[in-house]
Amino acid sequence: MIVGTVREIKNNEFRVGLTPEAAQELVAAGHVVLVEAGAGQGIGAGDDAYAKAGARIIPTAAEVFASADMIVKVKEPQAVERAMLREGQVLFTYLHLAPDPDQAHDLITSGAVCIAYETVTDAGGGLPLLKPMSQVAGRMAIQAGATALEKANGGRGVLLGGVPGVLPAKVAIIGGGVVGFNAAQMAAGLGADVTILDRSAEVLEKLGIHFEARAKTRFSNRANLAACVAEADLVIGAVLIPGAEAPKLVTRDMLATMKSGAVLVDVAIDQGGCFETSKPTTHAEPTYVVDGIVHYCVANMPGAVARTSTYALGNVTLPHVLKLAGLGWREALKRDRHLLAGLNIAHGKVTCAPVAEALDLPF
Ligand code: NAD
Repeated sequence: MIVGTVREIKNNEFRVGLTPEAAQELVAAGHVVLVEAGAGQGIGAGDDAYAKAGARIIPTAAEVFASADMIVKVKEPQAVERAMLREGQVLFTYLHLAPDPDQAHDLITSGAVCIAYETVTDAGGGLPLLKPMSQVAGRMAIQAGATALEKANGGRGVLLGGVPGVLPAKVAIIGGGVVGFNAAQMAAGLGADVTILDRSAEVLEKLGIHFEARAKTRFSNRANLAACVAEADLVIGAVLIPGAEAPKLVTRDMLATMKSGAVLVDVAIDQGGCFETSKPTTHAEPTYVVDGIVHYCVANMPGAVARTSTYALGNVTLPHVLKLAGLGWREALKRDRHLLAGLNIAHGKVTCAPVAEALDLPF
């Protein structure tokens, strides 16, 4: 199969669909790999690295779209890219179609076979192609929080791990899923005093077994939450109720109970945020202050570490890319119901029930 990847053109997107190492695997499996010149620039992978891996460097995205049987990307195709898709061509990337009727319309019109990373499932009922980005965001949340706690950044001037003779900072993590677990790992690793709150007894039990004495767990109810937030130096918002807007667990009133210069990092901001005072920010201006509390609410945290994020994403997408390229999309999807769950639109029809429902389209 001819597999192509192009330079991402969405604002501030530096990741790339295929790494040179992934290209090498595809070439070794007998496929032809086309890479738009400069596609890997954002992660420090030059055209020479792709050429060395056996890929062909193609001057423009239009030429890649024209020749490839399958396009592997990161972000949803932008309007100019959607216009280049053709009937039967496979597109494998994040799509997030539910809130995006224009994109859905164009993909339906194109006749392409569109497989979305975010709806591919695994045997445990998880979303394995979303997981690495939550891992990245969870780990970054502690870095971001530690930086925001510095005096020059508006924080209360506290070092997360303390030093011998001085107590470490108190970190409260609300939500002990993928983001919360990874945040707890980083915070505990730095020596902070970590408490993880969750509503699921099963999640709390797993966290307890994993962290033992390195982190405390508490059931997430109003009273426990208020107590943890009031005494925390750093609060990480990491809740998710699938398909729903994040619940506002920390209200504006609660800020008055917090220590001045404490920090809130709202990782759940991409679902509306779990603090009442959260509003989306960017990497250019990641924080703002409300009632003396520093807020960090960047909606695309993994973008800041594009190289790590690209490799983390590539590790989980490559097996599927190899399957799609080796078997063709029909056979690959027939053999793997989890990959089939990723099929959102094919040959002009919506093939994913939640997307059809959200957009009020026939299914
Ligand atoms: P997850 O499903 O693995 O974990 C969510 C956890 O929240 C679950 O354990 C659940 O039991 C818990 N929860 C639900 N309601 C709760 C409550 N009231 N109190 C305490 N815990 C509660 O989800 P995840 O992968 O960890 O993602 C968390 C959030 O981070 C999502 O909104 C996700 O979209 C977001 N995210 C943001 C970025 C970013 O760049 N900002 C990146 C990746 C993920």
